[in-house]
Parts: sequence; structure tokens; C-alpha cells
Amino acid sequence: MILIVDDTAENIFTLRTLLELHSFPTDTAASGEEALKKVLKRSYALIILDVQMPGMDGFEVAEILSGNNATKDIPVIFLSAINVDKRYITRGYLSGGIDYVTKPIDPDILLLRVKTFYRLYEQNRVLNEVQSNLRKEIEYRKLAQQEAQEASRRKDEFMSIASHELKTPLASMKAYMQLVDRSLTKDDKIKTYIDRTLIQINKLNTLITDLLDMSRLENGKLKFNETLFNFDELVRDATEMIRQTYPDYNISVNGQTGIMVKGDEPRLEQVLLNYLTNAVKYSPDVKEIQIHIRLEKNMAIVSVRDFGIGIPKQSQSEVFRKFYRVEGSEHRFQGLGVGLYICSEIIQRHKGSCWLQSEYGKGSTFFFSIPAA
Ligand code: ATP
Ligand code: MG
Repeated sequence: MILIVDDTAENIFTLRTLLELHSFPTDTAASGEEALKKVLKRSYALIILDVQMPGMDGFEVAEILSGNNATKDIPVIFLSAINVDKRYITRGYLSGGIDYVTKPIDPDILLLRVKTFYRLYEQNRVLNEVQSNLRKEIEYRKLAQQEAQEASRRKDEFMSIASHELKTPLASMKAYMQLVDRSLTKDDKIKTYIDRTLIQINKLNTLITDLLDMSRLENGKLKFNETLFNFDELVRDATEMIRQTYPDYNISVNGQTGIMVKGDEPRLEQVLLNYLTNAVKYSPDVKEIQIHIRLEKNMAIVSVRDFGIGIPKQSQSEVFRKFYRVEGSEHRFQGLGVGLYICSEIIQRHKGSCWLQSEYGKGSTFFFSIPAA
């Protein structure tokens, strides 16, 4: 909509006819005051403003418009019969006007300018619309991201509480079972069942511990208590534990580092136990596991080798990822796919690294290294 402001009715009539003939919608005002009132009520694409008017003149109107945030961007074409003087023209521009047409009006020139302004206005309008849509989109995404973060935080919190709550009754179950176990004689038939139940309770306990560790890792709440300890002894102790749990496996330890390491001993033992239980689990046919330790460039390096199912090339870089389980074997072997993820996080916190070598169908060797104290 174009607003024509002129105190002479004939001028308004001529301009209006000319513009509407070219399909520009128009509105009119007979004075500066009326123009200001109208401009405040609705938005215009362009204002054609007569300079010479009784009361408020065109420059004053334009000055007020340019001082108002809502109207300062509306282009103005000044019309004047007399003020052809350059001084006046400059004044017109300064007060927010953009163009200046002298009377008598050449209809072609006026139309050309109106068209230019109208196109500019349209482009601006589209740009503003795009900008506001973009702003809305950004707001929307921010909100969605916040919601997702909040949901993930609540999920972590729930996981942490749930696994903690699960551990308490499990611990008393285990204690009662051990009591029952002790009260039985060796050849009691029921002892076998109790022992099996205890094994299952231990498995459940490990699963819950893994879940709890994972959620603590995620929240940065997994605490590390550093002490100085003998590395080779740690490996020997962990191996002994696994030997007792899986007496039918032949587990050997070779090499030595002879160093002390500074770190969280139970957590590092957990890494070794994870490697070893994986080696047992994924090698159901060949019951042979070889552990090797050595010192290299002031790093203690452990390797756990099995002769089991192995890992296909394309999965080898993935196994330390959370919840990742190699396709094809996941139905045959139970697990959550968090063991190695926890290992790699623990080792990273000790400034070491985890890696593996494996040949599908032949076996795997899992390594980790940590710096000497
Ligand atoms: P859990 O969380 O109970 O440990 P998991 O053993 O499946 O379950 P990870 O220990 O993280 O999880 O191991 C991830 C995957 O890597 C396993 O699902 C398995 O496919 C593969 N994998 C790990 N160790 C071995 C291994 N020694 N031999 C063959 N595949 C292995
Ligand atoms: Mg595992």
C-alpha cells in the first residue's frame, strides 16, 4: 500500500489515478498530521509526500517518521514544485527521505521510482520473513536440544538410581545363599544348585555394576582413587581370580614390567578382568589364554590373547564403542556391549590406550598400556 500525502485534492486525485492504473493499491492523507496517524495504524510500502503543506510540512513529517523505529524504514518520495534548490534536496534525504521528485511530475519518472521502491520493499519484506522464520527455527531447535539434554540427564539419573537400588537386594540374596551354602555338607545334592545360583547372582551383579559404572562415566561421577602399586602383581592377582572362576581354561602369564604404577588399582583390575572374561566367553572351544606383560618406552603393556571366534576386520575399530556388539555372534553370547567401553574410558583416564589385533575365526589379542609412575 502506498500512502499519498498532499493538501491539494487534485494532486491526490491525479497521483491516485496514475498509481491505481498500474495496480498499486493506494491510501491518502490530506495533511502531515493525518499522515502520521495513518502510518501508526498500518504499514505502508512507500509514502509520497508533498513538501509544501499548511501546518506540518513534508520534511517535518519525514523527520518524525525517521525517528520512529516502526516507521524509519519506510521509503519516502518528496514532491515539490518549488524547492528545487539543492539545499532542500539534501534536507529531504537527511530527514529519512530517499528520493525527491519535482513538480510538474513526469508520470513515467514517478512510476519508475515507485516501482523501484516497491520492489525494494517487497524484497525487504521477504528477507525479513526469511529472517524471522530462521530465528524461529533456531529457537525451536534450541528448545528441542534442551529438552533432549534434559531427557538424557533424567535417563542417566534413572539408570544410576535403578542400578543402585538393584544392587542392594542382590547383595543380601548373595549373603543368604552363602549362608545356606556353608550349612550344607559337600555331598548334599542341593549344594550344586546353590553354587549355580551363586554363579548367576555374580553374573547379575557384574551386569548391574557395569550399568552403574556406565552411567557414572556418563555423568562424570566415576571416582578414581589413585595409589601406587606393583603392576605385575595386579596382573597375577587378576589372573588367579579368573583361573579360579574358570578352572577348565589354561591361562598363562609371561613377561614382566617390574614397575610401579600410579592409578586406581581396582579399576585397572576391572579392565583386566573384562579382557579375560571376554577371552573366555568368546573362545568356547579352545580353552587357552595367554597373557603377556612388558615395559616399552616407560609404558606398561598388557596383552590378552585367545584362540576363539575372532573379530571381523570391519568391526575391529568399533568394539570399544558403547553398546557395540559384533553382528552375528550377539545371539550366541550374552552381554550388554559395555565391558570394553568401560575399559577404554578407565584406561583413557589413566593416560593410556586400548587396542586389539584379531583374525576372524582364529582369535583375538586385546592390549592396553598405562604409563609407569
Ligand atoms: P558385556 O557388556 O557383558 O561385556 P560384551 O562382552 O558383548 O558384553 P564388550 O566386552 O564391550 O561387550 O565387547 C564388545 C563386543 O566385542 C562383543 O559383543 C564381541 O562381539 C566383541 N568381542 C570382545 N572381546 C572379544 C574377543 N575376545 N573375541 C571376540 N570378540 C570379542
Ligand atoms: Mg564383555
